Amino acid sequence: MMTPLQALQKYFGYNTFRHEQEAIVNRVLSGGDVMALMPTGGGKSLCYQLPAVLLDGLTIVISPLIALMKDQVDSLNVAGIPAAFLNSSQNPAEQSHIIAQLNSNHIKLLYLAPERLFGTGNKLVVFLRALPVPVAQIAIDEAHCISHWGHDFRPEYLMLAELKRHFPNIPVIALTATADKLTQKDILEKLNLKDPAVYISSFNRANITYRVNAKQNSFSQLLTFLENKKDESGIIYCLSRKSVDTLAQDLKAQGYLAEPYHAGLDGALKARNQEAFLRDDVKIMVATIAFGMGINKSNVRYVVHMDLPKNIEGYYQETGRAGRDGLSSSALLFYSPGDAIKLKGFVSIDGDPEQTRVMLSKLDDMSRYCQLPTCRRKFLLNYFDEQAPDHCGSCDVCLSEITKFDGTLIAQKALSAVTRLNGRFGSGYVIDVLRGSKSEKIRQEHKELKTFGVGSDISKADWQRYLRELVALNYLKFSDGEYPVLQLTDKSNAVLKGLQKVDLIATQTIEERETEELPFENDLFSVLKNTRRHMAELENVPAYNILSDATLMEMATYL
Ligand code: ADP
Ligand code: MG
Ligand code: ZN
Repeated sequence: MMTPLQALQKYFGYNTFRHEQEAIVNRVLSGGDVMALMPTGGGKSLCYQLPAVLLDGLTIVISPLIALMKDQVDSLNVAGIPAAFLNSSQNPAEQSHIIAQLNSNHIKLLYLAPERLFGTGNKLVVFLRALPVPVAQIAIDEAHCISHWGHDFRPEYLMLAELKRHFPNIPVIALTATADKLTQKDILEKLNLKDPAVYISSFNRANITYRVNAKQNSFSQLLTFLENKKDESGIIYCLSRKSVDTLAQDLKAQGYLAEPYHAGLDGALKARNQEAFLRDDVKIMVATIAFGMGINKSNVRYVVHMDLPKNIEGYYQETGRAGRDGLSSSALLFYSPGDAIKLKGFVSIDGDPEQTRVMLSKLDDMSRYCQLPTCRRKFLLNYFDEQAPDHCGSCDVCLSEITKFDGTLIAQKALSAVTRLNGRFGSGYVIDVLRGSKSEKIRQEHKELKTFGVGSDISKADWQRYLRELVALNYLKFSDGEYPVLQLTDKSNAVLKGLQKVDLIATQTIEERETEELPFENDLFSVLKNTRRHMAELENVPAYNILSDATLMEMATYL
């Protein structure tokens, strides 16, 4: 039998394995289950294609991307690896032709989409049982689609949970480019993988520079950004279809080769725009997140987010489409707190409280990323549980595009308030004490404290930012649990003793970054939220049982 390395050279024309490919291939060949996390463009396909060539029997590949199956199958066939796909885009005659080919035990890989064809009950299991050839491996691409916690949940994927039960001895390999800890755990559980080996490759995209700008005159900022990029390819993501259409129009009016892409466009037009983009006839794809999954275009030089993404996983996946060729590329995001509030409203419309909670906390992480006083790359990598140095040297924070000032005194005030409150209160309460709240209850209880009112010169909103910054800098932390309280960390003492200087982002910079926010609504929103929290505490139920964030936001907007 050929060795994996020989097969790599013979069929794929590569001399060496990348990332964890070799270990993954060996694991599958020895019959074990695998979950592989590798960045987009990292070479996941090879992890099951190579075993498929070497194993006796058929490899089933589950993929949600019908549109890309044909390309993948064509290129396998060109490489001399017999492959086929079955999905609902084919007519019955085409489908039986493929089944006949399977009968002749000729095909090594069969791509299936868990949609109409196999989308209900046990149809897939029945189909696999009825195959005239043994199945040697099941590969599940874009495995995060099985998880509610992932950013692209597809209910059809849930039926894959049955596979391991019915075919306990066939190795299953789950692949994804995007899954945080929670999603990873969910994938393993849902797929019932047996003693799975988990391989995680480095997700660092060293050639991408990360920037966050205030969402203020974002169109003219965008034009400045694009000024010397007329010949470069880029993707610009917007939240809504309407803003995709408008922005594409506006860019065209400025002489850019831009076209829109979103799920509301006619299928033929979508295909045409996508192809024009791949061929470089169109330079800018203005799109909703419906665009991009599985697209393999190597020379995308920039990815812009005009609106706040819903979570870090989606954001990282989308920015990851830049610079696959390894050349220097940028990721630019326009942030406004108003966006975060708007998205919160959307999220909470969902009924399931557990899911709502997770989505809101992911949204919070996304907002936190935008307001980081520390290296953005480090935050992103840590988010995916990867270690990273404190400074990457190629994000806006590391490049010092953000003005900082000596905030030691502010930090000391905050930290000593937390100390005096014995680490038992949330940020809103700590701020009330710092600002010397007029609330009778708080006055009664805390007016004797040395820190009561020492921060009255700083607005509530600024205190919120400083506290968040101090948490990001690890001088304070939030406790776990439903009502997180502020607590000291082992770095706090040095600050309190004056041994550690603390640089904070200048408020003015922050204000410049947030001019588009809805200050009034925002305040009202947090007042309503506090009220809701008190009600929830009294009733001893989760806050969203009282009123959803969406309703609160509606009240805040219309009151
Ligand atoms: P993913 O599915 O992880 O996004 P792909 O499997 O589509 O990535 O692979 C991305 C690109 O990398 C493809 O062009 C593929 O041929 C190439 N590639 C994969 N493995 C290797 C390797 N060992 N050496 C060189 N190129 C590779
Ligand atoms: Mg892939
Ligand atoms: Zn950095």
